[in-house]
Amino acid sequence: MTEHRGMNVQLRQNAQKILEELPQGVDLVVAAKGRSPQEVQEVVEAGVGLIGENYLQDAQAAQPLIGDRVKWHFIGHLQRNKIKKAISMFDMIETVDSLEMAREMEQECARLARVMPVLIEINSGEEAQKFGLSPDDAVAVAQEIARLEWIKLMGLMTMGPRFGDPEESRPYFVKTKDIFDKIKALDVLGVEMRYLSMGMTNSYKVAIEEGANIVRIGSKIFGERKY
Ligand SMILES: *Cc1c(COP(=O)(O)O)cnc(C)c1O
Repeated sequence: MTEHRGMNVQLRQNAQKILEELPQGVDLVVAAKGRSPQEVQEVVEAGVGLIGENYLQDAQAAQPLIGDRVKWHFIGHLQRNKIKKAISMFDMIETVDSLEMAREMEQECARLARVMPVLIEINSGEEAQKFGLSPDDAVAVAQEIARLEWIKLMGLMTMGPRFGDPEESRPYFVKTKDIFDKIKALDVLGVEMRYLSMGMTNSYKVAIEEGANIVRIGSKIFGERKY
C-alpha cells in the first residue's frame, strides 16, 4: 500500500502547487473525469474548492464521499435527458450551449425553486465536432437567457481547439474574452458577467493572461488520463 499512499501525497502536492501559483482572483476547477472518488477526495484535502465533472456517473460516485465541502461544476456536454439530474447535483453548469437547453433547465429550476448559475459555452474555434455556441450567436442568446427567472448567467466558458503549443490557443481565448466584454458592457438586467472559464493543463497560463478567472485542470494534477 505504500505505493498508493505515495501516489496520494503526490496528487495533493500537485494540487497545492497549482493553488499557490495561481494569481489572486483566479479559481481552480479540478477536472475530475475518469478519476476515482478517492483520487478526487485527495485533492479536496489539499484545499481545492471546486470540482469539475464531465459525467454524471463520476459525480454520483464522488459526491457521497466529498459532499458539500466543495462546489461542483458541470463541465461536460449535458444531454437533454440528464438536465433534471444535473440540476439537482451541481452548483454551476458551465456548458450551456443553446437557448433551448437553458429553457429546459429553467423549467426544472422553477419546479425546484432553485436558481442555477450558468456559463455559456463558446465554441471559439467553430469546430464542427465541438459543442458550444458559435461566437456570432453568443450575445443574442445571452440576452434571451437573461430573461429566464431561474437561470443566472454569470459568464462564459470555452475549450478552444487543442494545440501542442499553447500560444496557438491565445486567439481563441482573446475571442472569448471579447464576447465576454461585449455581453458585460450591455449590462443586461439579471446577468452578472463574473466568470471566464478558459484554459486547461496545457494552456491555462496563456488563458489567465487573456483574462480567464476560472481554469480547469486535470492531468497536471492527476497525471495523464489512462484512456
Ligand atoms: C478534461 C477537461 C479539462 C482538463 O483537461 P486537462 O488537459 O486534463 O487539464 C478541462 N475542461 C474540460 C471541459 C475537460 O473536459
